[in-house]
Amino acid sequence: MQQKAHKTKIIFTIGPATQDEATLEKMIKAGVDICRINMAHADHDWSREIIQRVRKVCDQVGRHIAIMMDVKGPEIRTGDVPETFELVKDELFEFTYGQGIGSTGDDGVRRVDVNYPGFAHDMNEGDTVLVDSGLIRLKVIKITDTTVRCKVLIPGPMGNRRHINLPGVRVNLPALTKKDQSDVDVGIEQAIEFFALSFVREPKDLDEFHTYLEKHGSDAKIIAKIEDQQAITNLDAIIQASDGLMVARGDLGIECPFEDLPIIQTRAVNNCIQETKPVIVATHMLESMIESPIPTRAEVTDIANAIREQADCVMLSGETTVGKYPVECVETIQRIAHRIEEEETQVLRKDLVLRLPRSKMLRSAAYLASDLEGSLVVFTRRGIFAQKLSSLRPNVPIYAFTDNPVLFKQLLIMRGVEPFFMEFDHDHETTIQRAFDRLKRGQWSKEGDPIVVITKMYAGEKLIDSTQIRAIN
Ligand code: PGA
Ligand code: MN
Repeated sequence: MQQKAHKTKIIFTIGPATQDEATLEKMIKAGVDICRINMAHADHDWSREIIQRVRKVCDQVGRHIAIMMDVKGPEIRTGDVPETFELVKDELFEFTYGQGIGSTGDDGVRRVDVNYPGFAHDMNEGDTVLVDSGLIRLKVIKITDTTVRCKVLIPGPMGNRRHINLPGVRVNLPALTKKDQSDVDVGIEQAIEFFALSFVREPKDLDEFHTYLEKHGSDAKIIAKIEDQQAITNLDAIIQASDGLMVARGDLGIECPFEDLPIIQTRAVNNCIQETKPVIVATHMLESMIESPIPTRAEVTDIANAIREQADCVMLSGETTVGKYPVECVETIQRIAHRIEEEETQVLRKDLVLRLPRSKMLRSAAYLASDLEGSLVVFTRRGIFAQKLSSLRPNVPIYAFTDNPVLFKQLLIMRGVEPFFMEFDHDHETTIQRAFDRLKRGQWSKEGDPIVVITKMYAGEKLIDSTQIRAIN
């Protein structure tokens, strides 16, 4: 197993460019932490096959990564068209439901179906409709029961199943659609570690999803993707109701003025760290590397910015689904992360509000480990101490040991945390020695290295939190 030289975690989206075993092996060896399956493009058979394949390759390589299933949530798409057609500036155009392709009425206005019956109901005259990542822009001029008549402001090609964005419009689709539920059932069946929910609008969306998972016996964590204005309005409540956040800059940059994006990103990252939740910066991180073996200077700086802001993860999408250089993308992030993290000067974040005495103990432990130029070792069953330590963003490694196989992979999302799966002994000292052994064998530490150990221990009958100064022996 290869040691990681940086704290920032990497999520890659699997697709035709990375799904074969040989490439997967290279990706895992290159240091990806989480494999994302985008259910906008994946069917159930393929998903099952991919999940099993990833796990098999992990076993062969001896390094484990987590699986994140990204479900689409309330997303609206146009229907199928026999052939892509060009819209014309100022032409009238209609969005319909259940009428099929063609033209309406006597006036020959062209139309396309959308996949959502409530479309006409949710729209208002004057609203903007954006098609295909904002490439096509239309303005609503007239609404009837089932049709939304628009004027084309910025024309473009209308292809099959194009994604529609409606800035500022409250869409009455459920947070978890029927399709999402059947996708989620596959994820539950395969015992994956993370779900990402697209277009989370309010905390209730996450509560419903959590209830669904609980009812079906899943321990998976839910990452809330913030993608529209409503999510920004409810940001703090969403962070609290989630197990983590994804700054989904693709849709966010269409639904909000793009000049707001850097401000939203900084705020989302900071608020997540304050609330002890992992945060992912996603989309277009290395877009040019879909075609090119080297990144643009702007992309290098964008990744460096996310790392300086201390996001937990950066994510790759098209770069690794259809790109020509998926492994090079991972190596590029590694290089940038290594270099930028090296420049960090602070021992840990001073802006976290710590209320509980045990949180303050963790902060002291992190200071201590830094002072000793050592590492932190934490034993965790629910991941709370590991998450808190990660949120402090200490300048020392955090080695987190757990006997919970699901949590083991969920710890992979946390910045600076290197997780280990290990059986705990009823005797604490045996457990600690077992952990030291693992660190030595994996060449994470060597004899004599100072370690600050955080663990529960018995004081008489009572179980207490303890911090110990140890050395690897
Ligand atoms: P998507 O989400 O790739 O599923 O659309 C990410 C984003 O919108 O940035
Ligand atoms: Mn999106």
